[in-house]
Amino acid sequence: MHDQTIAIHAGYDKDVMGTMAVPIYQTTAYEFRDTEHAANLFALKELGNIYTRLMNPTSDVFEKRFAALEGGEAAIATASGMASIFYAIANVAEVGDNIIVAKQVYGGTTTLTGHTLKRFGIETRYFNVNNPSEIEALVDEKTKIILFESITNPSIDVADFDAIVEIAKKHNIMTCVDNTVGTPILCKAFEYGVDIVVHSTSKYTTGQGLALGGILIERKGLVEMIKGNARYSHFNEPDESYHGLVYSDLPLPPFTLRVRLSLMRDLGATPAPFNSWLHIQGLETLSLRMKQHSSSALIIAQYLEAHPKVNKVNYPGLKSDAGYDLGQKYFKGGHSGLLSFEVADKETAQKIADSTEIFAVVVNIGDSKSIITHPASTTHQQLSEQELEEAGVPAALVRLSVGLEDTQDLIDDLAKALG
Ligand code: PLP
Repeated sequence: MHDQTIAIHAGYDKDVMGTMAVPIYQTTAYEFRDTEHAANLFALKELGNIYTRLMNPTSDVFEKRFAALEGGEAAIATASGMASIFYAIANVAEVGDNIIVAKQVYGGTTTLTGHTLKRFGIETRYFNVNNPSEIEALVDEKTKIILFESITNPSIDVADFDAIVEIAKKHNIMTCVDNTVGTPILCKAFEYGVDIVVHSTSKYTTGQGLALGGILIERKGLVEMIKGNARYSHFNEPDESYHGLVYSDLPLPPFTLRVRLSLMRDLGATPAPFNSWLHIQGLETLSLRMKQHSSSALIIAQYLEAHPKVNKVNYPGLKSDAGYDLGQKYFKGGHSGLLSFEVADKETAQKIADSTEIFAVVVNIGDSKSIITHPASTTHQQLSEQELEEAGVPAALVRLSVGLEDTQDLIDDLAKALG
C-alpha cells in the first residue's frame, strides 16, 4: 500500500466501533473482567489495556499507523520529541556507558546529551555528521547507541546513512535516527539500515503546531541483533523490576516493549489521548503537506541563493548544496520545508527575523504557518561559542521553516525583510 493510504487507514478497524474517525479514549484506566484477567495482563499472558500511562487505544492507533508508515515493527508514542530521544538512549545506556552523537543536532538534543546525561553518568562522544569516519575512533565496548538526524536542524546537513550504519554494524551497535525533518514520507530510514527511528511529532506530524508529541519506532527483526549481544545485556538478562522478564526471549518487539514496561512505567512521559488524536489527524495529510512544503522550500531557496545580501543557502534540494548528492540518495519526493541561510553578521540576521510579517518569529518547525528563527539567540542560546560552531550554527544564520502559504507571498515577505 502507498503512504497516503497507510496514513489514513493503518492501525484502525472501523468495523469494531463503526466510527469513521478514530475515537478519543479519554480515560485514565480500564476495567478488568476479574482479578485473573488483571493478573494475565500484568504478566503479559494476555495483551490489553492496563492504565493510560502504559497504553491507550487512541495512542495505539497512532503508534500502529506511524510504525506502518516508517515500515517498522512497533512504535511507542511519548509526550514530546525530547522524551522519545531520552527513552531511546536510556533504554540501552546506563552509568559508565557512552553514546555517540552527531554534533549537528537540535539544540535540545545537544543539551540533553552534553549536560543532562552527564549527571546520569552517561558520556557523549560527538562526531561530525559530514565526516562519519570519525565514529570509528570513538567506539569502545561501552558504546550503546549512535544517534544522528536525517536532515539536521538547523544546519541542514544530510546524514550519510550508509557510512554511519556500516561502522555501527561492524561493532554490533544500534543506530538511532531522528527523522523529524525528513518525515517517513520523504525518508524511509529503516531501508537504510538504522535500528531505531525517533521523531518530534510536534512538527510535521501534527502539521499545524497543535500539540507536543514524540514517537519511537523499532525496525523489524531488531531482536536478532539484540539476542546474545553483550552490549545489550539488559535485554538478555532477567529484568528484576518485571518479575524476571527476559525481553529478547519474548515473541514481542523488545525495544519498544522495554520502553513501555520499564521507562514509561517509571518515568511516565505519556501522550495525552487527545494529542494522539490530533497527531492521527495530522498523519492523514502528511504526505500531501510534505510535497508542498518541499516544493515551496526549493523555490524559496533558489530565490535566496540569487539574492545579493545572502552569502550562503543551506538546502539539500539546491544543486550547489554540499548535501545535494546525499539528498538525492536518501530522500524521495522532496527535501522537507527547512532551510537556513547566512547573511553578513548577527545583527543583520536579527534584523531580517524582526522584519518579516508572514514569517513569524517562533521556535518551532513543521507548521503550516511559516516561521523564521535566529537560532543563536533562541534554540541554541544555551550553547557555547564552540558548541555553536560545532553544531553548524553561526551567529549570522537565519532558519526558515517554510509553511503552506502561497509561495509568492512568502518571497515578497522575505524580499521586504532583506531590503
Ligand atoms: N528533534 C528535532 C529535530 C527537533 O527539531 C526538536 C524540536 O524542535 C526535537 C527533536 C524536540 O522535540 P519536542 O519539542 O517535541 O520535544
